[in-house]
Amino acid sequence: MRWKEQLLALTPYQPGKSIEAVKKQYNLNNIVKLASNENPFGCSEQALTALQSNPTSLAIYPDGYATTLRETLAGFLQVDQEELIFGNGSDNLIQIISRALLHPNANTIMATPTFSQYKHNAVIEGAGCKEIPLVNGEHDLEEMFAAIDEQTNVIWLCSPNNPTGTYIPEKKLTAFLEKVPSDILVVLDEAYYEYVVADDYYDSVNLARRYENLIVLRTFSKIYGLAALRIGYGIANSAIIKALEPAREPFNVNSLGQLAASAAIKDQEFLKLCKEKNRQGLEQFYVFCGQYQLEYYPSQTNFILIDCKLDGDQVFQYLMERGYIVRSGKALGFPTAVRITVGSFEQNEGVLKVLGELLAGK
Ligand code: PMP
Repeated sequence: MRWKEQLLALTPYQPGKSIEAVKKQYNLNNIVKLASNENPFGCSEQALTALQSNPTSLAIYPDGYATTLRETLAGFLQVDQEELIFGNGSDNLIQIISRALLHPNANTIMATPTFSQYKHNAVIEGAGCKEIPLVNGEHDLEEMFAAIDEQTNVIWLCSPNNPTGTYIPEKKLTAFLEKVPSDILVVLDEAYYEYVVADDYYDSVNLARRYENLIVLRTFSKIYGLAALRIGYGIANSAIIKALEPAREPFNVNSLGQLAASAAIKDQEFLKLCKEKNRQGLEQFYVFCGQYQLEYYPSQTNFILIDCKLDGDQVFQYLMERGYIVRSGKALGFPTAVRITVGSFEQNEGVLKVLGELLAGK
């Protein structure tokens, strides 16, 4: 077989360990998964009701235009329907953008460490990757700008950034966007946008209006609690959306997802509650880090990267054997850290108790 050479060197995405796999392996009954930044409070009741009360024929293809979801979301965001594109998760949008713009004679710029899928997709397309190290956990926009050359087609910004939880302040972002040549697409991945509380965060929908080369990516997988249904969306001017559409597969957003997401948008109270509980949960982690003098990045998301000053894989293993699945920082570019999703109050208490035992026994 004549596989693309670059594919042979790639490994598939490593998701957080599944609950079932850990249950079986360690013969445990109760497993708490705090590894994939899912919402510990589930999703809106309204989304569940919509799924139960609308008979959806599984024999019929989904609406390829996602008409109802598009109308609902456009109304909610106050954008035109032509300014939206939907994906099978925002992962799918990253893939569509890469497919549309990257090729062996192009390069792309991203931070490191950041969300792995920007590089992964760029490598598959054969494009060069310029990875610019974070400084204090934050994007180094000056260096990212300096890395632009004639072959640069796409720049990825992850704000708030996975795995650090840090964000780009508004002034820095707009100064950057002002400078980037308008024929380079800037992708602003805002998967954790709804959790942000920082005062100097920006209004990205407005930015997408102002900068003709900006696309904002968001998702229903995080605070909306609909990760299983795989719905992400992009907001950009209609010319960008029109250019990307042919690279989107025809029925990439499933019917149940469209239904649930349309209902979930209408329940902003649920999001408010989750955001509040998430802030309280983060405080539990901050207090713990203070007690044990552990370094962490203040987070604008529903996860926290904690430097345990121990091998990240070992911490991961210790917690997993005791029923808590987190992410080792090793594969994320922080070898002595773990990334933990903020869970419910009890889940946070539980994981921190076990982590405390590990640290005390050092
Ligand atoms: N972007 C970032 C920064 C993420 O952390 C994730 C989820 N891990 C995604 C995109 C993809 O999310 P989804 O495909 O579920 O929308």
